Amino acid sequence: METCYLCGSIDDLTRDHIPPKNLFPSPKPSNLITVWCCRKCNERYSLIDESFRIFTSSVINRSKTGESVWNKKVMQSSFVRSPKLKSATIKSLVPIEEEINGIKVKATGITYPIKKTKSFLVRLTKGFTRHFNPEIDLAGAKFKVYHITPNQQIVDMLHQKFFYVEKGDGVFRMWRMFVKDNVPESVWVYVFYDGLMFMIKVN
Ligand SMILES: [Zn+2]
Repeated sequence: METCYLCGSIDDLTRDHIPPKNLFPSPKPSNLITVWCCRKCNERYSLIDESFRIFTSSVINRSKTGESVWNKKVMQSSFVRSPKLKSATIKSLVPIEEEINGIKVKATGITYPIKKTKSFLVRLTKGFTRHFNPEIDLAGAKFKVYHITPNQQIVDMLHQKFFYVEKGDGVFRMWRMFVKDNVPESVWVYVFYDGLMFMIKVN
């Protein structure tokens, strides 16, 4: 029987996109992953999805696609629809110094709550597990979230040892490695718009 991948409910099921479809510019890729999710859980994540898109598409070293999502879907859509979201984002701005290709760049960054980031990434991990390894039961699993500064060395290592999935051009990359068969213990790495990288350890 199909169940919601987040709460286990069998009622009012709908398809949830993993990663969320709002991260992708139109036309969306046709190979996006969907899993069964109850309407309640699905709706609970819609605001988190929107604010996560603002956060990930705002980073200075984002891909071209990330830049276009920021311009078209954040500036011309989210911020127009919700002035509240816009003012909250402006309030969270902080000056930052980043090093891109060895050059120091001064810019402004959005501060984003770690709790929301974790909630988003744990949900993503649960969705992928349901899709790729439905036999694994994540009830009771613990999730640790780390922010990683992306570099070529890490990416090369991941490509050698991890299972790789890419969705959309410059939108989303994912690597995962299970430590053993049929147990939750695993490592996941996610990259959004080629700019933000996170690692999730599950045990
Ligand atoms: Zn649910």
